[in-house]
Order: sequence, then C-alpha cells, then structure tokens
Amino acid sequence: MFVDSHCHLDKLNYQDLHENIADVVAKAESSRVESMLSVGVTMDSFPSMLEAIKPFKNVYASCGVHPLDVESYFDFDKFKQYAQDPRVVAIGETGLDYHYQPETAELQKERFKQQVEVAVALNKPLIIHTRNAREDTLQILREGGAEQCGGVIHCFTEDLEFAEQAMQLGFYISISGIVTFRQATELKEVVRALPLERLLIETDSPYLAPVPHRGKENQPAYVVEVAAYIAQLKGCALNDVAKKTTQNFKDLFLR
Ligand SMILES: [Zn+2]
Ligand SMILES: [Zn+2]
Repeated sequence: MFVDSHCHLDKLNYQDLHENIADVVAKAESSRVESMLSVGVTMDSFPSMLEAIKPFKNVYASCGVHPLDVESYFDFDKFKQYAQDPRVVAIGETGLDYHYQPETAELQKERFKQQVEVAVALNKPLIIHTRNAREDTLQILREGGAEQCGGVIHCFTEDLEFAEQAMQLGFYISISGIVTFRQATELKEVVRALPLERLLIETDSPYLAPVPHRGKENQPAYVVEVAAYIAQLKGCALNDVAKKTTQNFKDLFLR
C-alpha cells in the first residue's frame, strides 16, 4: 500500500478527467494508494477544500498559506482556528520561494514564521516548500523551534547537505515525480544517499506528473511511479519503499 503525502485535490480537472473527488480516490485505491494528504495553499480556498474531503476517511488535510500566495487574504486569529480542526494533520504548505517571487521575500518570511509558531503551539508537523532560500528556511525553522513539531521538506529539489540539516531538525524528505525526470541527475544522487527511514513520496498533483505520465495532469494514483523509481535507484524492492514511506507518513502525520 502507498500513500500520497502531498496533493491538491481541489485543483484537479473535474471537467474532463475525473467526475469528483470520490472518482480520484477510487482511482488511487485501485492502484493501491490507500490514503492521501490534500494540502492547503490559501485561507480563501481552505474551507471548501476541507468540506470536500470530509466524506473520505483516508483523505487528510493541511492548512497553510503558500509562499507564492502570501499576498492572498490572511487573518492570523482565523488561521489558528482553521489549524485546530481535527481533520487538519499538518500546517502548510509554507516556506520560502525566492526563485519565483523574490520581491515578496519579506512577507513570505513573516507568514512562514507565523505558521511555524502555530505548528509548534499545536504540535502539528510542518509541510515546507523551499526554492532558492536554503539558509533563510533553516534559520526560520531553527529560531521557531520547529524541531518540536517536525515536518517534511516537500517536493525536494535541494542538495544533500540541505537534506541532512533538515533531517537533523527531525524533518522528513518528500520525493515527487521530479526524480523520474531525465535531467534531475543531482536529485537522483541525493535519493540514493538518503535512508528510506526519512523518505516520503508525493505527487503534488495536479502538477509534476512522473514519467511515464509526464505532460499529463498528475493524480494521487501516480505516486506508485515515484515509489517504483526510488526502488530502482536504491536497488531495493518496491514493497520496501511502499512499507517504509507509508510507515513514515503515519509516524509524522497520524501520531
Ligand atoms: Zn510546493
Ligand atoms: Zn503543493
């Protein structure tokens, strides 16, 4: 059994590709993907996403403001309320993205610090998005005491040294379909070097469909391709990747 540790179920194509979330979940289950975590990116979209996933016991939610959405509506008190919902198993995605939006860096840092504060206060793990902002990301995590709540660096594309520093804070590293892309040579090396005990797998659907679905819209069922590629890279059985990453998901998010 597999788990998709990061997807955006409210952003999939329900016009042409899927009937509804039940359809997406059924497709995932028929590929042995037993559960998934639907990740929030704005406060505006959070209530409807939470409502939409509520009928599904095997779908979890997180509450967060994405670093590329920091100019969207935000109310800190209301955010704390949202975060307390028992269906919310994590805070994020949050973090820093200086690659796509260096101009909002200051506001990104402010939102990131606020979300670390909530995660630590509620003891819910953090889902971190980071691009071109390694030092600031680690500094904010350390200063905010994030090792108390732990978390995951999602859609990992950084180097081995960054992974090691994140793991020292008790964080997991989540691998997306990027690892199957031919040009991702450094990431493949990093995955070879990292212990399965610290890895999660994800689709980040609807984005980043793994080979052989590259170019199509991504969906939770395709997380199996990520797991298969990791097994091939590490020379281990697919079943080991499935078991370990599923256990890691439970240890982190369902504790
Ligand atoms: Zn992200
Ligand atoms: Zn995402």
